[in-house]
Amino acid sequence: MAGQIARPMNIKEIAAKAQDFEFNQFIAMKYWLRTADTLLREAHIYEQEENDQQAYLLLMRYAALVAEKLPLHPSAKDPEYRKGIKDLNKTLPGVLDALTALKPRITARYDAWERALERRRDASMALSYERSRAESQTEFPAASDPAVAGNTTTLAAAENSELAVKLAHKEIRRRDAARRGPRQVGVSEEEEHERRTAGIWDDWEAALSKDSSTQDEDEVRRNMEASRRRMDGAHDIVPDGVRSRNTRPRPLPIVPRSGTQYRYPSINRSQPYSYGETPESRNISQVPEYTPPTPPPKERFQDQMGDVPPPRPEKAVPALPPAEAASPKAPPTFTFRPSAYLENGEPLRTVFLPQGIRQEFLKYAEPNTRRNLETCGMLCGTLISNALFISQVVIPDQKSTSDTCETTDDAAFFGYCEKEDLLQLGWIHTHPTQSCFMSSVDLHTHCAYQMMMKESIAIVCAPSKNPSWGVFRLTDPPGKQAVAKCRNTGLFHPHSEDNIYTDALKPGHVFEADGMEFSVVDLRT
Ligand SMILES: [Zn+2]
Ligand SMILES: [Zn+2]
Repeated sequence: MAGQIARPMNIKEIAAKAQDFEFNQFIAMKYWLRTADTLLREAHIYEQEENDQQAYLLLMRYAALVAEKLPLHPSAKDPEYRKGIKDLNKTLPGVLDALTALKPRITARYDAWERALERRRDASMALSYERSRAESQTEFPAASDPAVAGNTTTLAAAENSELAVKLAHKEIRRRDAARRGPRQVGVSEEEEHERRTAGIWDDWEAALSKDSSTQDEDEVRRNMEASRRRMDGAHDIVPDGVRSRNTRPRPLPIVPRSGTQYRYPSINRSQPYSYGETPESRNISQVPEYTPPTPPPKERFQDQMGDVPPPRPEKAVPALPPAEAASPKAPPTFTFRPSAYLENGEPLRTVFLPQGIRQEFLKYAEPNTRRNLETCGMLCGTLISNALFISQVVIPDQKSTSDTCETTDDAAFFGYCEKEDLLQLGWIHTHPTQSCFMSSVDLHTHCAYQMMMKESIAIVCAPSKNPSWGVFRLTDPPGKQAVAKCRNTGLFHPHSEDNIYTDALKPGHVFEADGMEFSVVDLRT
């Protein structure tokens, strides 16, 4: 059987996408430093999950932000940011090495896809030249989301939230153990690496075999097994996440963290330097396939259709040659598909929000609420298999009024995130007496967060009103752009657009996850 051959992305396409981001100099430097940090953390996770395309995109974007954009910011020379910028610059050689290591893997996979397509066309041509030509024009539109392009084993969050929660618990615990536990005596570096990066698929299967009582889980398992059989049999390209452990070079550690300090990757001396220079003298102009910015893609329709072509009826074509790269027992991991799209067509990854997290936060906020004072908390969590899981509300030091709430010790909060390896995925705050809406000040605060991460959400709790809560994001466009260019700092001021923000809860990209563990951490002093 011919099977499906999903189209991966090539280096040029990923590089063009990496350049496609907006650098707004009116957003405070502290947010851009956080953005850079977030990009690098995300890249590291995708890289460990062997999602090469998305890791490459984020590293390219990081390199462009740090090397080209940040120096243009009006606060770039301020003494208070000097150390932060210097620390980011120190990571660049390691990032360039990681890009260099990823590039041949992405290229090999794309080339294999092209060869497979060629063979398939040749085979089809023997039967029907015309049909083959028609197929070639419509079957493989350009992929646009490197996180899932070319991957046939993607899962929809909506149908799999129970399993997603199980997966998240196991993976969060595994990462915690890996982060906290020093290397054991007698465990080699290689073995330790295997332990650290192994096993999302293994965890998935283990979770299913221990508890597969519900019908949903059985169904998902059947789907996953069917996907795997297709991978084993009919595919002759390797999607991201196929773990061919024996043949694949060990991934580079991009930014291993230790305490609150960056630790920079050691440079592999045995690797030839392609430009005949020392690593110290290399600079950003040598990022592989660095291309000038391109206009935003107009791919909305295609994005909505997804990157994986729909199933097609089986055709009588001659058998394909044996698989080239996929080792027969290499189990694929899986990737969550994006669950919603921005107004500009960009995919939004799913955000899983633990049920009950809001009520728990309200308990901490209650003394303030009684005195008609707002309370705010940061929604923190992590990235697993292309989905975002909120696992903590961190309440930083703050000063508040009846209509505002401002954090006062960002360094302590960032230090905590660094130590716990947390990503900031949004924020939550109370309106003690007002209704549930985004005030002008809320919109400006959230704009910075949404610049940092497009999936970032704002939860507003209005315990005395109905509705008593909402999950929001700015529209993009026009909301994000309108707020970003607004210079008005007043508490309540109008913006030029009507539809400045929108609901983000399902059918948006946020799903309430029943049974998802969470905690509230109060950093207030
Ligand atoms: Zn508010
Ligand atoms: Zn404004």
